[in-house]
Amino acid sequence: MKGYLSSQKKVECFGCGACVQVCNQNALSMMEDDEGFVYPAFDAEKCCGCEACLRACPYGNELPREGAPIAVFGGHHKNASILEDSTSGGAFSALVEAWFLREGNRAVWGAASHGIDVRHECALNFEESVRFRKSKYCQSDMGSAYADIRLQLKAGTFVLFSGTPCQVAGLRSFLGPRAYGGRLLTVEVVCEGVPTPLYLRKYIERLESGHGSKLAELDYRYKDGRRWDFQVMLATFEDGQYCKVDRWFNPFWSIWLQHLMSRPSCYCCPFAAPDRIADVTLGDLWGVHLYCPDLYSRNAGASLVVCNTEAGVSLLNDARSFLEGRNLEFADARRYQGPMRRPVGEVLSREAFMHDLLTLDIDDLEKKWAKRPSLKLLWCKYIWGNRQKVALWNLRRALVSKVKKGGD
Ligand SMILES: Cc1cc2nc3c(=O)[nH]c(=O)nc-3n(C[C@H](O)[C@H](O)[C@H](O)COP(=O)(O)OP(=O)(O)OC[C@H]3O[C@@H](n4cnc5c(N)ncnc54)[C@H](O)[C@@H]3O)c2cc1C
Repeated sequence: MKGYLSSQKKVECFGCGACVQVCNQNALSMMEDDEGFVYPAFDAEKCCGCEACLRACPYGNELPREGAPIAVFGGHHKNASILEDSTSGGAFSALVEAWFLREGNRAVWGAASHGIDVRHECALNFEESVRFRKSKYCQSDMGSAYADIRLQLKAGTFVLFSGTPCQVAGLRSFLGPRAYGGRLLTVEVVCEGVPTPLYLRKYIERLESGHGSKLAELDYRYKDGRRWDFQVMLATFEDGQYCKVDRWFNPFWSIWLQHLMSRPSCYCCPFAAPDRIADVTLGDLWGVHLYCPDLYSRNAGASLVVCNTEAGVSLLNDARSFLEGRNLEFADARRYQGPMRRPVGEVLSREAFMHDLLTLDIDDLEKKWAKRPSLKLLWCKYIWGNRQKVALWNLRRALVSKVKKGGD
């Protein structure tokens, strides 16, 4: 059988913890390695040799994938404050609201922040699900989520599970072939990988010592009043101070987006492909200013929603009353979504970066590895950027329609 438990190859473990949760002997537990990523550790004395852990591993388990998407939607939430509180266009909140409006006992699982730690938790109504909003760029701890979901499904609850594609695969693999009357619906985020928490801890420690206060909240992508594609990081401290950094001046974004510190399995992720593992795939509507500028929403954020199954389409249809937008062609959307085509692939300098992460002080590490923005990039972002291009496009469109009306 394939998978980390039999091969001990780190690229063969997504860190989902399905193996740990399936083991009724408590013979496995998740342990952090020296790079900060979690892997199952095995206690041979407790093992009864049933191999349930090997069968639950999504790496070894070739799960059926969905083929070409059935529907592709681009747009944003109609409610301005939900849109501001969401990473992309708030499509996740629209799906969740529609989910809870349906009949029957319902639950939603998602990733919630606890300082810089992230855990998968359950919400039993829309208000409780608000804590799942926003992308936390760190692998979330699944705890006992899969086992709890199995109990909920067996008890007749309808469950919407949201997470990264490998976490969805972990859940499906854990549950096995049983369909539970179609009560499970899965929503995955487009995912380019998860970074090591080791760097983030050092980064936050430095911020805390600079501000003389503990971190209260970290928003990786604060929109700062219609600056969605600026990926502003906002750190709020316990004493009320805060600090904001735009993406081009933020070493976290620079280092991570060079793919120097992702989990080993992310470089060859089998779920970074056009055929998806979940009912619905959510992402940023990257390229919006190029192929559908009418959905730009003045840089307040835009979502891509890809429905891979009929159940996904049905939920999107219910959620449409909360959303503004329209159908798109998958071929157009996919052009701007690398993780929906192929995984990142090997990054040769990762090993050297990881060595430096363990040995250098954070300032020296960043001096060596974080890129400074070029003047051209700063010009494009702050002076003549997407916002201005879309404004020009709108002006041109308004003029053309005026001229056409005048001619009628
Ligand atoms: C680690 C990560 C990498 C991503 N990479 C890309 C990318 O390369 N390209 C792209 O287009 N989009 C990416 N996304 C998705 C994007 O950032 C938004 O999450 C998505 O578009 C949904 O946004 P929203 O506005 O609809 O809702 P939001 O309310 O912002 O979305 C919240 C959703 O994200 C889930 N979530 C948040 N943090 C985590 C986490 N740590 N682990 C698992 N699930 C989490 C929540 O459970 C919920 O389902 C990534 C998200 C994450 C978490």
